[in-house]
Amino acid sequence: MVEGRNRTIQGIKAQLNTSQYEAVTSTEGPVLVIAGAGSGKTRVIEYRSLHLVQSEVDPESILLLTFTRRSAQEMIERASRNDARCSRIDGGTFHSFASKTLRRYSKNLGLSSSFTIYDEGDAEEAIRRCCNKMGYDQDKEFPKKNELKNVFSLCINKGLDVDDAVSKTYEDYQGWLGEIKTVQKEYGKYKLKNNCVDYDDLLVYLKIILENDEVRERLSSRYRYIMVDEFQDTNGVQADIIRLLAKKNGNIMVVGDDAQSIYGFRGANHLNILKFPTIFEGCKVIKLQENYRSTQSILDVGNAVLANMTHKFDKRLVSATGNEGEKPTLRCFADVYEEAAWVARKVQGLCATGAALREIAVLFRTAFASMPLQAELVKKGIRYKLFGGRKFYETAHVRDVVSYLRLVANPSDELAWHRVLLLLPGIGARTVERLLDLIAGHSNLATIIDKVFAPFCTGHKHSPVFASFAALLQSINDPSMKPARQLELVLAHYDPIMKVKYKKDSSRAKELIMLEHMARRYDTLKDFLADVAVDPDKDSKDDGLEYLTLSTVHSSKGLEWGKVFIIGLVDGVFPSGRALSNGDGSGIEEEKRLFYVAATRAMNELFLSYYNKNGVSERSIGELCRFLEPGNVKQTYEEKVVKAVNVQVRRYARNSGYKRR
Ligand code: ATP
Ligand code: MG
Repeated sequence: MVEGRNRTIQGIKAQLNTSQYEAVTSTEGPVLVIAGAGSGKTRVIEYRSLHLVQSEVDPESILLLTFTRRSAQEMIERASRNDARCSRIDGGTFHSFASKTLRRYSKNLGLSSSFTIYDEGDAEEAIRRCCNKMGYDQDKEFPKKNELKNVFSLCINKGLDVDDAVSKTYEDYQGWLGEIKTVQKEYGKYKLKNNCVDYDDLLVYLKIILENDEVRERLSSRYRYIMVDEFQDTNGVQADIIRLLAKKNGNIMVVGDDAQSIYGFRGANHLNILKFPTIFEGCKVIKLQENYRSTQSILDVGNAVLANMTHKFDKRLVSATGNEGEKPTLRCFADVYEEAAWVARKVQGLCATGAALREIAVLFRTAFASMPLQAELVKKGIRYKLFGGRKFYETAHVRDVVSYLRLVANPSDELAWHRVLLLLPGIGARTVERLLDLIAGHSNLATIIDKVFAPFCTGHKHSPVFASFAALLQSINDPSMKPARQLELVLAHYDPIMKVKYKKDSSRAKELIMLEHMARRYDTLKDFLADVAVDPDKDSKDDGLEYLTLSTVHSSKGLEWGKVFIIGLVDGVFPSGRALSNGDGSGIEEEKRLFYVAATRAMNELFLSYYNKNGVSERSIGELCRFLEPGNVKQTYEEKVVKAVNVQVRRYARNSGYKRR
């Protein structure tokens, strides 16, 4: 038995380099592993868990905190393959650990152990009710529930007061400060009364109970070895939780990469990791120098941006494989649609030459930027899963406007009628059912307008509403009209409805403009609908089939793929326009870190692309992302475009203070 275990310890050693082995076997006292992307930090946690268990440490006394539940499970599963006892290791996210612990100690907080946890939607709904109670909801200018939620979250995660949180996020709401504070108080009372907590409360309450000596003592004797992955993305409350939890035993290992801190907008503080050795006295700092993930050419794209970051542990990524690899390609397209079409074709090409779909990922700054690509993939029948955003065709507003067009293509489409009629201002469910009965007997849109709606257009209390709706249907019921024009008319009608339904959510309006631009590429409504009106749910179930990963950079953290595309590398898109206009420069620093995360997800091939027109406005915006160094990429386009790229990069290098190596 003992011999068998020794063999496994030898086996562990064989899987690690010297620094990793040192980290794995440094089991007592505080340890910080700080290293660049792909250097095996997560692997260290996995093997350290195994090593602890093999050294007869009770698995239940090991706590593993990670950023997603899935990654904790994965690590434990992998360690369990070598030693089944590892399956008893306790692991999860900060939030899941908090929820489990609070159930046990809730009475210390005056909560019943049966408390309910609000997800984001529940929290926003509760805030809406509080606004409603105070009569604030009546004012169209009053902040929306999700904006209020963001402000309250920021107060907790960054330790700000409402005044500061509002000035950092929604300058326009300065005039409502008093009311916002009232809602914050009401929301607090509401949650207590209903025995509910939101995600932020979970962390705050956990910190509070850990400040109680007796509770902390009990938790410290239970969890004697603590490990935290992705420590660079912890916020102040999470850092305090770790400090308190590890105070007694001091056996705490955190791993992370300060250059990959990308949740600053949610209150994460990348300085937590740099401050760690000052908080835990005698902390051993271990740096991992080699990258096991990517070819050197890919790493050089990351190194260029790394060299320009402020606040960092000095590092340069060097490939352990010794494989130089092909230089990443940079392509420029006329617009987003061409870029999307190329990516879809290229993915098909890669699969045709033997690549598996699951080895490929397409990354982007915001899910919005992936919409034309989603359309293209649906068209080509390429299965994909989207991480970090709403699927375009599943969004309520896109479904709303497409429903009007479905009526023109098929006047017997009851679901589309139902959706559209419910949007009519002031019309309730009962009237809608009555109308549906009346419509059911007809299959011609002109007849329906005439027979069903015309009688409601005069002398009815909602006549103006019906008249405008009937006029819209009449105007779009024209077989010779191009889909883009039909959509334009629908959008004009839908705009005021959307404003009421979603208040000031400008991203929805932009998405609809994007849809209109997509429609311009179709000659017939039938073809347009065939591409957009797919059943969006059919791909979302995990049926074990292969799929292409579409992901925001944020959601790609910690993961890797053989072949990675980064699309939309346009200044103002990636890096985001908002970050560029942010005066104190912190926004642009976070964008650099995001770009570095994106580029370092690729193992063997990296495809970079950008475009000259964004497809939403006619304005030409094709300025290349400022983080790209032309020397590191292979530009595969006509001479003209390559020259233009170089000129732009030079100009941006000058304007942004971006240094060349
Ligand atoms: P990130 O910063 O992206 O989270 P990381 O530092 O956590 O990356 P890992 O994900 O642990 O890095 O490792 C990156 C890749 O390198 C994985 O495929 C892992 O299996 C491999 N790897 C790590 N260490 C070694 C090693 N010593 N020998 C061979 N492969 C290794
Ligand atoms: Mg990792």
